[in-house]
Amino acid sequence: MTTLTNPFEIARETLRLLATRRIPPTPDNYQTLYHEITGTKPSAASFPEQQLRSLAAALPKASPDQLRLARHLDEAVKAANWEEYKNHLVEFITGLADSQKLAWSDVISDLFRQWDAKHPGLTSARKREALDHVLTSSGANPDTLFSRLQSLLRSWGHGKDQEKSDSVEVIQPEAVAAPTSLPSATDLLPELRELFAFTLETAIATQLMESPQLSSDAKVLANDIRNAVSPAQLQEFLTRLKRFAFKLELLAEDQTELRHSLLSLLRLLVGNITELVLDDHWLHGQIEVVKDIIDKPLSQRALDDAEARLKEVLFKQAQLKASLAEARDAIKHMLAGFVDHLADFAEATSDYHDKIEICAGKISSANDISELEGVLGEVMRETRTIQINAQRSRDELRSTQQKVKESEARIKELEHELEATSDLVRHDQLTGALNRRGLEEIFSKEVARAARRDTTLCVALLDIDNFKKLNDSMGHDVGDEALIHLATVCRETLRPQDTVARYGGEEFIILLPETPLDDAVIALTRLQRELTKKFFLHDNEKVLITFSAGVTQMQHEDNQATVIKRADEAMYQAKQTGKNRVVPAEYSSAR
Ligand code: GH3
Ligand code: MG
Ligand code: MG
Repeated sequence: MTTLTNPFEIARETLRLLATRRIPPTPDNYQTLYHEITGTKPSAASFPEQQLRSLAAALPKASPDQLRLARHLDEAVKAANWEEYKNHLVEFITGLADSQKLAWSDVISDLFRQWDAKHPGLTSARKREALDHVLTSSGANPDTLFSRLQSLLRSWGHGKDQEKSDSVEVIQPEAVAAPTSLPSATDLLPELRELFAFTLETAIATQLMESPQLSSDAKVLANDIRNAVSPAQLQEFLTRLKRFAFKLELLAEDQTELRHSLLSLLRLLVGNITELVLDDHWLHGQIEVVKDIIDKPLSQRALDDAEARLKEVLFKQAQLKASLAEARDAIKHMLAGFVDHLADFAEATSDYHDKIEICAGKISSANDISELEGVLGEVMRETRTIQINAQRSRDELRSTQQKVKESEARIKELEHELEATSDLVRHDQLTGALNRRGLEEIFSKEVARAARRDTTLCVALLDIDNFKKLNDSMGHDVGDEALIHLATVCRETLRPQDTVARYGGEEFIILLPETPLDDAVIALTRLQRELTKKFFLHDNEKVLITFSAGVTQMQHEDNQATVIKRADEAMYQAKQTGKNRVVPAEYSSAR
């Protein structure tokens, strides 16, 4: 007979044979005939998924080993892998037999030892009685027998250690059978559950004071584990616990980062304090920054911001300090010079006094007028010299005074600048928003943070509409006020973790961390609405400002320039299509 290969012909032939041989047309008979015709062997029976699944579900899951087995079997069923299923089962049963073999041999040899050993107050009869009780009360359950035997032997050993006289107490059958003697894994579950709950509630939740969400998650989990009784509930608890553990890990990473930032910040500050030996009001700004951080809950953003601010302040102060030191040195130099002159002058005057005294002596001892002439000439000469000296000293004193005044003024000016720089920030002086340098730093930090946490970062570019017209019609100062107003409303309306930076004249960049594009559009639309509600007054006239914005989501391959360019293009579209609009820039359209 030729072997058919065409499936249609095989099917037809199978049906024909069923009819001619008068075989009932059941699926099995069809399959047998089909293989007869094709000359093939029936394939292995299809994977009995349903049955195996129900078997896996019915298995006990009281101990970790049992739970692991159930999980392995479940996975094997999911993968329809019979080989794996078989291996796991065989492995488990072999392991079980091995462990029991080992433990039984231990128990039996212990029994022999303890039987022969002398226990104070414990006669052989008593021992036999206790053993009898254990054997009969454990029935046919080897697990129970095993644990009770162990417990009994321990109580004998314990009795010996304690030199107990009342041996009956030691071998109380109730005590032997009590679960506390040697609890099985199942018996331990409630205790384990309670301990777990306690750890979550007290040890973990209290450690998470600064993360209220995680802290309350821990409390909920504690409650869950107390109530989780069925395997399904336990399974669900495990899933939630895994998620919680993952969040804890993230938090731990964040905290490490926080610590590092805090340390470098303090180092920066302490370094500066030890260098500054002059007036402490120079430190005013820095101290304020640190106070600001300490007063609020510790946040990575606040620390980043403070670090950026301090770096700039310290750099400027270092420059100013050099000039200040120079000015002070100059004063010192001048004063030293003046003191020298003063000493010379004093010397010259005492010289003059001596000479005048000699002249006076000469005058009183002079016998004729011609003698006096010479003395008078001497007196006149000395007096003139002292006069010239005094004059020179007075002039020098005046000029030194003048120079000291000038230097003091310079010192005042420098000190003033120094104080001002202490308050200086990487912020735009007019609006208080970050300036470009400030933005750059925060930008790279936000990008790194988004990559680490695998979250989305959105970037928006805002441009005030018809700002030139406002400047022209109401004046530059009103224009300035409008800029301040916009920055203020941004800060009030957006979340604390959002960054607002002045990018150019009337352009602002907003960074929205952990925000998908749709939500970023919503946030900016809300900002638009707020601006229409919160106008400001100039000469009792309402000044209403609007803006056009482009928003885009940062992609892996983006950098600051490409993402801002995309936002800028979207902003341009908003301008082109009527202004006072928010336009999202889809990444695909930018490629
Ligand atoms: P559009 O709606 O297309 O954006 O028009 P616009 O008038 O807002 O834009 P344009 O770029 O023509 O004008 C921007 C103006 O912003 C010009 C500039 O004088 C003004 N400007 C830039 N910086 C400042 C500032 O610090 N204060 C004030 N008052 N005005 C500023
Ligand atoms: Mg512009
Ligand atoms: Mg504009």
